[in-house]
Amino acid sequence: MKKHNFSAGPSILPKEVLEDASKSVLELDNTGLSLIEISHRSKEFISIMEEATARVLKITELQNKGYKAIFVQGGASLQFLMTAYNLLEAKAAYINTGTWSVKAIKEAKLLGNVLEISSSQDKNFNYIPEMNNIPNDIDYLHITTNNTIFGTQYKSFPDCSPPLIADMSSDIFSRKIDFSKFDLFYAGAQKNMGPAGVTLVVIKESLLNKVSRKIPTMLNYSSYIKADSMLNTPPVFAVYTTLLNLRWIESQGGINELEKRNLKKAELLYAEIDRNSFFNGFAEVKDRSHMNVTFTLNNENLSDDFNKICENNNISGIKGHRSVGGYRASIYNALTIESINVLINCMQQFEKLNK
Ligand SMILES: *Cc1c(COP(=O)(O)O)cnc(C)c1O
Repeated sequence: MKKHNFSAGPSILPKEVLEDASKSVLELDNTGLSLIEISHRSKEFISIMEEATARVLKITELQNKGYKAIFVQGGASLQFLMTAYNLLEAKAAYINTGTWSVKAIKEAKLLGNVLEISSSQDKNFNYIPEMNNIPNDIDYLHITTNNTIFGTQYKSFPDCSPPLIADMSSDIFSRKIDFSKFDLFYAGAQKNMGPAGVTLVVIKESLLNKVSRKIPTMLNYSSYIKADSMLNTPPVFAVYTTLLNLRWIESQGGINELEKRNLKKAELLYAEIDRNSFFNGFAEVKDRSHMNVTFTLNNENLSDDFNKICENNNISGIKGHRSVGGYRASIYNALTIESINVLINCMQQFEKLNK
């Protein structure tokens, strides 16, 4: 029996996507060949790549607005460096909302002056700090829209005159936002988009070719754009499965519909965390993530009991990250409300047992 998969990443994908992806490994669309044994220069794969990038621009409503979508390897982690390599000439500003921002700041410091204009480190990153006092003389401002580990998420994005860059790894395609506010955003696929191995980058092309440093080919966004993301052999399985998921998103009614479902799921789970006196939410209420729900037990000594109940109910992947402790339920697009209800039921069983 398939478990209720609350894993933070790699994470749950829709059943239909997994079925179609597995079929393609045996044979891709009556080609007589497997997806993973055809040339990436074949017309079949070229059309997969074209459809995937076109769908990204369609879903984000960025067609004909000067943006390009590319697929890159190296994870979101390589984007911490690549963004700075391509865009940081002198000075950039970062908002520090946790582990992933810290890592992005570390890489950018290799290449220029980095201002950490605000941070929520004082409270172990359980909130989103204000985004004011943005300097004007910076090459860009970098934020992390959803903090996978701490369970916080930006609810709105203020207007900002310097270019705005975002790591959207764990909430891309989960809600309707005005993507045109961003000049560049990136996302490792394995949270809410596809399998590990590919990273999506969407860039406003006018931003590029402005820095004075020489950029190695494999780190240069312009070379990926020129080569239609096929500078070298792309991760064909990860790109194809991502495409299947993009089709799935559209078949469900697009990100508007997914946002409604995600909101409903998050509200149900947070309501139980707030009602049930055995649990505490970690993040400040106004900044709670609708993708990664972090919570702790009032009495950590009872964790074996709760873990047992979860295990008996086929729940997988809710152990919290070591920097928060407790639990983290990742409730990405493909996770159903049924799985949420099973988890809530476990919390209620635990409450009865310990009353
Ligand atoms: C998981 C994650 C990363 C790191 O992704 P990799 O693809 O493993 O490099 C970066 N940022 C955020 C917000 C993440 O959730």
